[in-house]
Amino acid sequence: MPELPEVETTKRDMGKWIINDTFTGEGFCDWKKMLDRQAEKFFAELKNAKVKSLDRRAKILAINLTSGFSLVSHFKMTGHYLLVDDDPKFIPYANIRPSKLNLAEPLMQIKQGRKKTIEEAFKFYRKTYDPFIHVLFRLKHSDLLYTDIRKFGWFKIVKTSDFANLPEIKELGPEPLSKDFTFEYLREKFAKTNRKVKQVLMDQTVVAGIGNIYADEILWAAKVHPEAPANKLSVWQIQAIFDAIRPELEKGIKNVGSSIGEYRRIDNSLGKTQNFFNAYGREGKPCRRCGSILKKVVIGQRSAVFCPQEQKL
Ligand SMILES: [Zn+2]
Repeated sequence: MPELPEVETTKRDMGKWIINDTFTGEGFCDWKKMLDRQAEKFFAELKNAKVKSLDRRAKILAINLTSGFSLVSHFKMTGHYLLVDDDPKFIPYANIRPSKLNLAEPLMQIKQGRKKTIEEAFKFYRKTYDPFIHVLFRLKHSDLLYTDIRKFGWFKIVKTSDFANLPEIKELGPEPLSKDFTFEYLREKFAKTNRKVKQVLMDQTVVAGIGNIYADEILWAAKVHPEAPANKLSVWQIQAIFDAIRPELEKGIKNVGSSIGEYRRIDNSLGKTQNFFNAYGREGKPCRRCGSILKKVVIGQRSAVFCPQEQKL
C-alpha cells in the first residue's frame, strides 16, 4: 500500500515532467466510479489547463492548474501513476511484477501510444504497460495514466483554494514532516488512548501518511513493541518514536519509495526502500541490530514484525 514516501516520490517525479504541460481535455476512464462527475464532463473540465504545481497531503495528490482548479486524487490501497512523456530523456519501463524484479527493461515502444487516439492508446497502454490502468489523461507532451488493481482510488476536480477544506483532508492529522507535528502533540495523542501503539501510528487522524510498512520500521528503530498500549509508553519511548518518524519517512523518500506491492515510480521502475527494511517483511530473519530472530504478531487485520529481544512489552 502506498504511504507518504511513495506518494511524495510520485509528486517529485511527476513534477519534473508535467509542470507547464497542458491538459488537452481528452481522457478515458473505464471505472467511472473513480471520477466525481460524468467522464466526458470531467475531462472537458481540464481542457487547456496548464499544470502550475503539485501538492501532497498524506496519500492525496493535487495537480494544481493555472485555471485555479486542482486535479485531486487519492491513491488508497493500490493506486499509482504512470507517465509516457514525449521527451526523449524519459524512458518508461516495461511491465514488471514483483516476482520478476530483475526484468525491468526499458521499453521505448510504449511511447507509440502517444500517436494513437485516446481509446486506442488506453487499450495499448494496458496491453504493453499495465493491465490495471483505469484512467488516462492526455496532455500536450505526455499521457498520464492511473493504475489501481483494487480500484479504490478516486479523482476530484476542485478549486485549488478549497483543497485544504476537502473533508478527506480536514480529518487528517498533521503531516509528520511538517513543523505542526511536534513531540508535545504526539505525547498528548498517545496519552488519550490505550490502543496499541502501532494502530495509533497508522491512524490518519493522529498523523497523516504512515501505514503498515513505515510503522513497523519506526517502532523497530525506536525499540518499542507494536502492541504496547499508547498511554502506557514512557516519555523516553515516545521520544524515541518521535525521533524515528522523520528519519524513517525521509529514508523512504530518499530511496524513492518501496515496491513490495504494486507501487511503481511514474516510469514504471521500482522503488528501492524495500532493500533497506529492518523490520517490515523480515519475520524469521535475524535482527540487524542484535541478531535475534524477528517475530510477527497480528494486530487487527494487519501483521507487525518486531524484534522480541529489543521491543519488549
Ligand atoms: Zn534486535
